[in-house]
Amino acid sequence: MEIPATALVLLIGAAGSGKSTFAARHFASGDVVSSDQLRARIGESESDQRANEDVFERLQALVQDRLAAGVLTIIDATNTDWMRRTALIGMARHHRRPVIAIVFDLPLEICLNRIAARPRTVRAAVVRRQVSEVRHDRERLDLEGFAAIYVLASTHEVEGASVDIKKGPVVRALSS
Ligand code: GDP
Ligand code: MG
Repeated sequence: MEIPATALVLLIGAAGSGKSTFAARHFASGDVVSSDQLRARIGESESDQRANEDVFERLQALVQDRLAAGVLTIIDATNTDWMRRTALIGMARHHRRPVIAIVFDLPLEICLNRIAARPRTVRAAVVRRQVSEVRHDRERLDLEGFAAIYVLASTHEVEGASVDIKKGPVVRALSS
């Protein structure tokens, strides 16, 4: 995967699909904005709809500052909601930063097994919905304005992926 050094990178995948593990392996921790970390700071439960809105607002504010500064930013959140993706892509477009999608399209069973092994768990029904949203939106992603979309469709592909952060001239996400 080639990632411009000024890019906004959206990790897209259900809980348990391996986003945070991937982010820790391939990116500097200071470049990663994590919804789980923000949620922990706000201190509300994952099922609380109001807290989710607060978390997304905080996330947007952080991303906004980083886009303005032109620094690489990785969003570690499920990003399965197309309206939220659209909001984030719009912000990047405003700052003329390319947006890259890394999609974790892993089987539901794998996500559920991993979730079960975690202390703070997510409801199975929520994970099921996220997995189906990821699969269902795969064609839709092509129309959302990403400069590149990388789909990882198995644990094997996730583990074999390599990331190359491209320094140098700013790559324009959109030609117009
Ligand atoms: P997230 O909810 O999408 O952020 O998923 P995590 O990155 O937290 O991963 C959930 C669990 O799956 C972790 O406890 C990891 O041990 C495991 N995991 C994540 N990625 C991989 C992978 O590439 N290979 C294997 N074998 N396990 C992984
Ligand atoms: Mg995570």
